[in-house]
Amino acid sequence: MLKIVKFGGTSLASAEQFAKVKEIILADKARRYVVVSAPGKRFSDDIKVTDLLLTCFRLRSEEESFDEPFEKIRQRFREIIADLGLDLSLEADFDEFKKRIVRGASQAYIASRGEYFNAKIMAAYLGFPFIEAAEGIIFDEDGRLQEEQTNEKLGALMKKHPRAVIPGFYGATENGDVRIFSRGGSDITGSLAARAVKADVYENWTDVSGFLMADPRIVEKPRAIQVVTYRELRELSYMGASVLHEDAIFPVRREGIPINIRNTNAPEDDGTMIVEKADTSEGIVTGISGKKGLGAIYIEKSMMNNELGFGRRVLSVLEDRKISFEHLPSGIDTLTVVADRTALVGHENEIIHALQKAVSPDRIHLVEDLCLIAVVGRGMAGSPGVAARLFTALAEEKINIRMIDQGSSELNIIVALNEADYEKGIRAIYRAFAS
Ligand code: ADP
Ligand code: ASP
Ligand code: MG
Repeated sequence: MLKIVKFGGTSLASAEQFAKVKEIILADKARRYVVVSAPGKRFSDDIKVTDLLLTCFRLRSEEESFDEPFEKIRQRFREIIADLGLDLSLEADFDEFKKRIVRGASQAYIASRGEYFNAKIMAAYLGFPFIEAAEGIIFDEDGRLQEEQTNEKLGALMKKHPRAVIPGFYGATENGDVRIFSRGGSDITGSLAARAVKADVYENWTDVSGFLMADPRIVEKPRAIQVVTYRELRELSYMGASVLHEDAIFPVRREGIPINIRNTNAPEDDGTMIVEKADTSEGIVTGISGKKGLGAIYIEKSMMNNELGFGRRVLSVLEDRKISFEHLPSGIDTLTVVADRTALVGHENEIIHALQKAVSPDRIHLVEDLCLIAVVGRGMAGSPGVAARLFTALAEEKINIRMIDQGSSELNIIVALNEADYEKGIRAIYRAFAS
């Protein structure tokens, strides 16, 4: 039995958390490779080390002093080392790091040091060797992960040691220039490591007892999900359930390695298993997630569905403006483009004008205050009345539905609401399906 264990920021925010992590690792011999994030928040208005590092980069770019955030970071690591009673000093490394920032180190390099230093500390604390992610996780010059090369190189590095600590979130180009994943990317590192050694399980340790049916910041004590399929999870995490980075699914899925989401603060809980296939005993709806910050372009033209190339012309207007769409519901005479609000704001006239020229619509207008809520469940296909229950739940709260989109797989129903109805909408839907 071989397990990869990844610990997130809150699981590593202080020496006390490090101690819990060590106990978890020592409790199971199969937990041999440990992927770590940078220290996260210790309390609600604390600042994550990664955010402090990004502030250093920003201040340096603006030619301002970055001493304050830099010293905060140094102090946080110093404290962890001291509280753990380790015979380790990172002082010289920090002096060198500071010089590199001054000399113009890249944003990716600066942001990656939270994981780098944390992994150094974890390796010393566990007495495990440190594996340099820059040598195993390979990106191309444009920052795209090279999955096959990574699989070979990381696998070879890991196989040299029966146990090891690997920093998450970053890798490097073949020339050694550091590149990072998007935020939350240590989850991807864990998944790549699991694939590279064909682990039996990828345990992802965080601060909740698994994937919950809804965001715990919106719904009070949502039910935990026991089993979720990769496909359901991908829908849920793409739509904003941020427990696991949406791209962390691919490497393990390919090898059929299940992911187990666990709670560092409640290791006795089973957490959530993420698997390829599961029965539908969990109920009709597995989870509810959503995102704010969207806008939409409504285009109306009689008989547009008979007009060859209509959709293509609309999409090429968007493509020319580098706007990618989230959803594209259409009717006989209408087509709606849902997109990130920031892509639309400030360009309204230009977009409308270009679309008028491209497809001569009868009517066109933009809205910029939408949110989307996705109701996801493998039990939804073939079970009648799901949509009715959803709409009734919203209607009872007097929430107006702006748009409806059901995926062709019947795995999800997505509704667009006014952004102001977001939290209320999620709570109403949760109540309708949680029991
Ligand atoms: P880590 O730092 O361990 O990677 P994250 O902050 O990335 O942890 O993810 C865990 C957090 O995700 C939880 O603390 C919770 O606030 C949030 N979250 C959002 N939606 C959900 C959900 N559906 N189930 C569980 N947690 C959720
Ligand atoms: N430390 C990085 C972040 O805050 C990566 C991670 O935690 O997964 O986004
Ligand atoms: Mg995370």
